[in-house]
Amino acid sequence: METKQIIEVAHENKSSGMAREYFTKKGLSFEDLGDTDMWKLQDFINHECKVLLADKSYSMIKDLKVSRVKQDKYGWHLITSGSYFKLREGISFWNPKTNDDSITIGFCGWASGCNRIPFIVGFIKWCDWMANKEDSWYCKQCEKEMSTDEKGVCFDGEGYCSNKCIEDRKSEL
Ligand SMILES: [Zn+2]
Repeated sequence: METKQIIEVAHENKSSGMAREYFTKKGLSFEDLGDTDMWKLQDFINHECKVLLADKSYSMIKDLKVSRVKQDKYGWHLITSGSYFKLREGISFWNPKTNDDSITIGFCGWASGCNRIPFIVGFIKWCDWMANKEDSWYCKQCEKEMSTDEKGVCFDGEGYCSNKCIEDRKSEL
């Protein structure tokens, strides 16, 4: 199964199963996931949203994006917002320890057609990134190198080493 094949059917419901398989095929599992990986996924999806929203021939929900990342005992959740709603599931990674093993990753159950595309395409690109990623990340403000185990803070889909760096960034915007 190639990236191209999945991207071609990204607007169809069957792409969810293919994307799940792709994740496994890349050797990834729930245990591999951390804060920085989720920010990166948010980044990949929001980039695809921007590209599609710029194309007026697409009838996507206006202002569609992943607005935040939430973690709870059930797993990781990417929460989306759009022009007429604030909280909908984007992608959820379900923790196998607290859920039925048969549920692994959920893809925007509410979305159909065009609105699914940024999530599936962003997810596939992120899987490739995950499989090749270096063992560190850089603060978007001070560029300090952090190991993937070190927690940071998120602002606008980017990772920062501290709240101070977020404040510095905001004052520059
Ligand atoms: Zn920093």
